[in-house]
Amino acid sequence: MSSFKELGLSPAMQANLDRLNYTQPTGIQVKAMPPAMAGRDVIAMAQTGSGKTAAFGIPLIEKLQPKQFAVQALVLCPTRELADQVAKALRELARAKENVKVLTLCGGVPIGPQIGSLSHGAHIVVGTPGRVEDHLRKGTLNLDRLKTLVLDEADRMLDMGFVPDVEKIVALLPKIRNTLFFSATMPPEIRRLSDKFLINPKEISVTPPATTADN
Ligand code: AMP
Repeated sequence: MSSFKELGLSPAMQANLDRLNYTQPTGIQVKAMPPAMAGRDVIAMAQTGSGKTAAFGIPLIEKLQPKQFAVQALVLCPTRELADQVAKALRELARAKENVKVLTLCGGVPIGPQIGSLSHGAHIVVGTPGRVEDHLRKGTLNLDRLKTLVLDEADRMLDMGFVPDVEKIVALLPKIRNTLFFSATMPPEIRRLSDKFLINPKEISVTPPATTADN
């Protein structure tokens, strides 16, 4: 499969990808999008720059029901920088649908304004595990209607000590959901987590972009 047209996207998403100049899907998109669109769990070994954000973002947004004003997707990221980047990319992809609200919930900033934003509702939450867990514990974030969970750069979340928070969050999520797990490497602890969180996943890997002597 080598074109977005063959992936069965909505005409609005197809038009939006044309607007973004996404003419061809990247390797990770070709491999991850068909199972994700079909609702199958995915474990993908992919690096930054591979196009992984759209590989999970497009299926997640295609499934979203904007009229249902509840958090339908949660993307966990290791850092605020990545969360901001992912939220920005999702907002662009979500222009295929009307009025999709994407909220970032990261640590290192006051929690009060986040509680205010949450009270107005959101469809997609992108955040770091510690702060997302804080909101769940306080009852300021409700994930009862979640459909898609994404773990982005799971190996970096492990390096940063976020695994206990991730486990606490996942324990509170609906059992029937689509889980998409992205990691640049697959150390044993990441394997353990993926075995725990995913059901019959499609396993995918793409070759990292070629590196040169000076990078
Ligand atoms: P990522 O690996 O998700 O951080 O994406 C890396 C960059 O590739 C981002 O700037 C994306 O906007 C861009 N990108 C993702 N998918 C495509 C595509 N199919 N065609 C062109 N650019 C893309």
